[in-house]
Amino acid sequence: MQDPFSNAMTQLDKVAKIKNFDDEIISRLRQPDRDIKVSIPVQMDDGALRIFDGYRVEYSNALGPYKGGIRYHSSTDISEVKALAFWMALKCAVVAIPMGGGKGGITVDPKLLSKGELERLSRGWVDKLSDILGPHKDVPAPDVNTTPEIMAWMADEFEKITGDKTAAVITGKPVDKGGSLGRDTATAQGGFYVFQALKDKLGLGDKCNVVIQGFGNAGANAASIWQAAGHKIIAVSDSKSGVTNTNGLDVEKLILHKQKTGSVLGFNQDNSGCKEISNEELLEMDCDLLIPAAFENIITEANVDKIKAKVILELANGPITSAADATLFKKNIVVIPDVLANSGGVAVSYFEWDQNLKNEHWTKQEVFEKLQPMMANSAENVFKKAQESNTDLRMGAFILAIESISQHYKNI
Ligand code: NAD
Repeated sequence: MQDPFSNAMTQLDKVAKIKNFDDEIISRLRQPDRDIKVSIPVQMDDGALRIFDGYRVEYSNALGPYKGGIRYHSSTDISEVKALAFWMALKCAVVAIPMGGGKGGITVDPKLLSKGELERLSRGWVDKLSDILGPHKDVPAPDVNTTPEIMAWMADEFEKITGDKTAAVITGKPVDKGGSLGRDTATAQGGFYVFQALKDKLGLGDKCNVVIQGFGNAGANAASIWQAAGHKIIAVSDSKSGVTNTNGLDVEKLILHKQKTGSVLGFNQDNSGCKEISNEELLEMDCDLLIPAAFENIITEANVDKIKAKVILELANGPITSAADATLFKKNIVVIPDVLANSGGVAVSYFEWDQNLKNEHWTKQEVFEKLQPMMANSAENVFKKAQESNTDLRMGAFILAIESISQHYKNI
């Protein structure tokens, strides 16, 4: 299996060939400005000391302060964090916000920690990295398995260490601690605005059959948003299992079921046609729209030939390997790439940072009124770039982003 950073670099090689970018620009984008690994000692509840590996990768601040989430996962390593930081740098450029790209992580399964252990670990990450963080330097946010509460602990720890009370040091905070309204659903909502801007161009109608892999923040919100707009959610899954109903799943009931039981497993919606389905089967379903919303490397050379979706919208980062991407292009399956499709999350993170710096509080309606044109314009721009170079939307997004970043590099 290709590791995420080498997948990202294969994508970079591909765009360099399509657009004949300056070698110096490509060389600069081939490595982060800095990648840092820290050891975080944590006193566990039983009194033992455990050392966790933590990371922060600052990829590029060409367009503004480094920006990007922190992931807690047992498989998180420096390669994954570097890839995610690279994609963040491109993503901020695609949606034209004045932020650079960064990402962080800790190798840990947070479900195995008590709340107290989790808090000490999160504060420990900030203790080790507070020198490089700051509202005008590097602004973290949540990612997989990190929550508004964790962001609040981190902001508090930053204040304790530096004396700096600014909420703008971190985004994705609880609303009563300076978080933005709308941040919780921003990634899925942004993806939906992108879908709306492109659906006619891609030959999709107003009543799509939608399959979603991953039922967390991005996936479950996407299910609600697409269903509310009249589309039919015919299958979803999480790490334990999947559930399908060709008549359409009742998403709100499914969310309640997941809240109660911890999984979509066992949801039978009063026996009205729901069936259990494996993650493999789910990916291979015949549908109009497949939304991977879980992890990297989900569609690979091993399963790409079995994919039957008309369009794939990547709410997850890096769910398709480069080799699988090439095969999908040949099969005329359109991929709306992560750096465009899931950039609503960082866009609203930027809105949060902006509100904090100006001491403003926008309504949810104001947030989404700003988000919608930003996502729709980015989608149009990506589509145009792809057409001009006769390439796919991923390369269209890369061209748009690298042209913007290279403007800055040319000036220094
Ligand atoms: P999350 O932790 O809230 O949800 C992840 C979901 O994926 C969970 O339901 C989990 O059970 C499921 N999952 C894990 N392994 C799986 C597997 N093998 N098969 C099927 N499902 C599996 O995380 P999230 O915040 O929703 O992030 C999901 C993806 O979206 C990640 O790639 C993340 O980087 C990306 N993303 C999230 C945001 C955001 O704002 N949350 C923004 C941009 C990108």
